[in-house]
Amino acid sequence: KQDILQPEAAIDEGKQEESIRPHRFADYIGQKDLKDVLEIAIKAAKSRSEVLDHLLLYGPPGLGKTTMAMILASEMGVNYKITSAPALERPRDIVGLLVNLKPGDVLFIDEIHRLSRMTEEILYPAMEDYRLDITVGKGSSARIRSIPLSKFTLVGATTRVGALTSPLRDRFGLVQKLRFYEVEEMTQIIQRTAQLLQTPMTKDGATEIARRSRGTPRIGNRLLRRVRDYAEVKKSGEITETVAAEALQLFQVDPCGLDWTDRKMLSVIIENFNGGPVGLETIAAATGEDTQTIEEVYEPYLMQIGYLSRTPRGRTATKAAYKHLGFTPPNQQMS
Ligand code: ADP
Repeated sequence: KQDILQPEAAIDEGKQEESIRPHRFADYIGQKDLKDVLEIAIKAAKSRSEVLDHLLLYGPPGLGKTTMAMILASEMGVNYKITSAPALERPRDIVGLLVNLKPGDVLFIDEIHRLSRMTEEILYPAMEDYRLDITVGKGSSARIRSIPLSKFTLVGATTRVGALTSPLRDRFGLVQKLRFYEVEEMTQIIQRTAQLLQTPMTKDGATEIARRSRGTPRIGNRLLRRVRDYAEVKKSGEITETVAAEALQLFQVDPCGLDWTDRKMLSVIIENFNGGPVGLETIAAATGEDTQTIEEVYEPYLMQIGYLSRTPRGRTATKAAYKHLGFTPPNQQMS
């Protein structure tokens, strides 16, 4: 597998990401629908001096969910706390965070579909009434004590919105999907990052990296750093279209950013099933990925670039997919 194209952050990537993360709405490129909705919500909350509604952000990794939570806090002029479901194993973990929140604060919980049941149940009254219900005593003398909390905004992030329990999902006033970025938007993101890194780059150079970034800012920024190394060591330092293409070919990044699994999915559909339709289970078995990852990470990107269609009877490969993989599309074959 090619790690360079994985949408999850690598272990040592955190620090590099912090230095290039946008901090204001104006620097957050793309995701127009999301920004429109949130800008209205922020203005309304501010004019009524209320806290922002709880917000659920969903979509593949690396598209800007954490970044948006941080921007919301700064636009509202409040502090934020960032955590993730696996770090909230014990009830006291979430209790500790909740009681320390100041009015208006943003609490960001990543991978929120993975919360333990106990933690989730603590969150219900906290989200609904800004209240902590704690059981004191045991057996017949046990009773529930309520502790008031500061009004806060919970921002939950998930790659699997379908895996949330409905009581949790229903407590979010705003539910918003993040989508893959268009090549033009990715180009702007890469140009912005290059400027911050003080790397000279032509617009075509940025576009070349953008095309191979799977519509994902995290991947785009990572490819840019690799290309920048190449440009500095092997070339004059400037990233042009040719330099970017050479470098990414060296790192074996496909011209459309496809990785092994994408290619395997498409070639199975084309070679074994004559272009489809093919069921999800079959594709999963052929690639060794689970059906959820196929559905939530791979298929959305392949559909976005027009290589895969989902039909009621299964998945089919498009003409463009045939061409990209070097096959002749069906209606051009001699019969
Ligand atoms: P997620 O939480 O969805 O996994 P992040 O918010 O951590 O993704 O974003 C990953 C990286 O991509 C961040 O370092 C950030 O700099 C960059 N990024 C994400 N969205 C945008 C955007 N809209 N504009 C510019 N950079 C972005």
